[in-house]
Amino acid sequence: MTKTTTQPVTPVVTPGPIASANADNSPLFGLDAAALAEFLSRLGEPAWRARQFTEAIYRQGVTEITEITTLPAALRQKLLAEGWRIDRPTIAQVFQAADGTERYLIECRPGEATTVESVWMPEGDGGEAGDKSENHEWRRATICVSSQVGCAMNCGFCLTARLGMQRDLTAGEIAGQVISVLARHAVEVGRDRVNLVFMGMGEPLANYDNFMAAVALLVREVGLSPQRMTVSTAGFVPGLERFAQEPDELRPRLAISLNAPNDALRDELMPINRKWPIAAIVEAVRKIPLRPHERISFEYVLLGGVNDQPQHAREVLALPIYAEIRPDEQQTVVGAIAEFLS
Ligand code: SF4
Repeated sequence: MTKTTTQPVTPVVTPGPIASANADNSPLFGLDAAALAEFLSRLGEPAWRARQFTEAIYRQGVTEITEITTLPAALRQKLLAEGWRIDRPTIAQVFQAADGTERYLIECRPGEATTVESVWMPEGDGGEAGDKSENHEWRRATICVSSQVGCAMNCGFCLTARLGMQRDLTAGEIAGQVISVLARHAVEVGRDRVNLVFMGMGEPLANYDNFMAAVALLVREVGLSPQRMTVSTAGFVPGLERFAQEPDELRPRLAISLNAPNDALRDELMPINRKWPIAAIVEAVRKIPLRPHERISFEYVLLGGVNDQPQHAREVLALPIYAEIRPDEQQTVVGAIAEFLS
């Protein structure tokens, strides 16, 4: 008779999805150093490797995991095998003007049909001549950045409003526009003078968490100064109230898109004014602590026959915000309006 044994059998372990595998295909681009450290520690890697990662993808412009040569080859292979990718937003189309300005359609997610717009505006290259005789050596440049796909604010004069609100951009998609444009122009952060204006598609303060997370990435991981960034808002007061709480080291400068000297006209041009009229915006703006020499801008786009009449200019001078600006700046405003009216 054959004796059978009942020895415990060692279970065969089949490699299944581990906690860190990229089941939902999310990009690594957009994670800050702390999130990357946590991610890498789940893979059994030391937290300090996060610095190698951020240096490569945010400062050196590396777009493929295989090209992060500071990481061990085995780790790069492991990340690829688990489906991780950097997936930085990419420039899908470029429209160039003679003065060096470039407008980009940016693809935020691979294969996504809808793109957002960013613009590169160089200064000091003499390109104003427009005859392409200049060498396009720029000394200073401004990048205009989008914060949403479409926009819900429905301003009457805006093309983006016609798209309606499609979705918020993530922090990586907002910061990625900037980093893609910096890479295209081989900008050396710290040496070259680059300003950012968050004035592209969308209302940044209505996508507050992603917008500020993008600012934090651009400040901490890329090395840009928040004092060289300006965020423009249509007057989204809940966002302004949060903005007032941000620390100096992260808070961009602020611009209010005013465009009308009174609530009646602003209600028509910018429906957000019906909820938060000019007085509510001014009250929220007053709570924002300013750094030395910092000022808040009020922007006014002239729309022929709509908000550009002499009485509109007089109403601008009667706004309470006008009385609060410095006397020399009041003179500048009066001079500009007089020139406009002449
Ligand atoms: S907030 Fe800006 S992007 Fe949105 S509709 Fe108004 S002008 Fe257009």
